[in-house]
Amino acid sequence: MNIAEKAFKELFPDKIEDRRFSVKYSGKFKSYNANVRYNHREIMFSLSNDLKEVSAEIQIGLIQTLLLKIYKEKKNTLNIELYDRFIKNLPKYTTPSKIDPVLKESFDRLNKQYFHDFMETPTLMWGQEALRKLGHYEYANDTIIISTVLKNELELLDYVMYHEMLHKKLKFSSKNGRNYHHTSEFKKLEKQYEDMDAEKKLTKFLTKKRLRRAFRFF
Ligand SMILES: [Zn+2]
Repeated sequence: MNIAEKAFKELFPDKIEDRRFSVKYSGKFKSYNANVRYNHREIMFSLSNDLKEVSAEIQIGLIQTLLLKIYKEKKNTLNIELYDRFIKNLPKYTTPSKIDPVLKESFDRLNKQYFHDFMETPTLMWGQEALRKLGHYEYANDTIIISTVLKNELELLDYVMYHEMLHKKLKFSSKNGRNYHHTSEFKKLEKQYEDMDAEKKLTKFLTKKRLRRAFRFF
């Protein structure tokens, strides 16, 4: 029995699944990432190479998290808890690999103002020129990624950075195999941001940008 079969049996003792389960490790992923693909014959899990070094219990938790997505079910297991704890603790052990100076200035400003300078600097990098996803915090490698549309918008950048720093601070809470990121505690802290109009300014900026982008095609 491979670990995917084991993960399935322990998660759904009463379910019958005729498809084959397979697990492979791959170097194409960023740290501690994984995905699952399936067809009518097989359910294939691909895990990043560094997960090979992680205990089977944690890998099973990860696979169970992916299984819950496939079957659209909610459940909690000890393995899923172990996996969540593992992901939440990863930032403690990673050293930042890349720190962009403009982002670092923003991070430092906010760290001083809202976090008593206590937050450790994560990896800070610019992402794509995205208008939809302006920022992102990756737990697995302790990285804040900010959309390059904010490159010349320091005021808006600070606001998005603050949001991502809250993700780093609060992690996520798990219930029935689902992770909740924007909890009530998160929203409460987000409201403490100095500029009450920040969200409005951001929306206005994005609307303008989208229009300009749309016109480029005419
Ligand atoms: Zn968020």
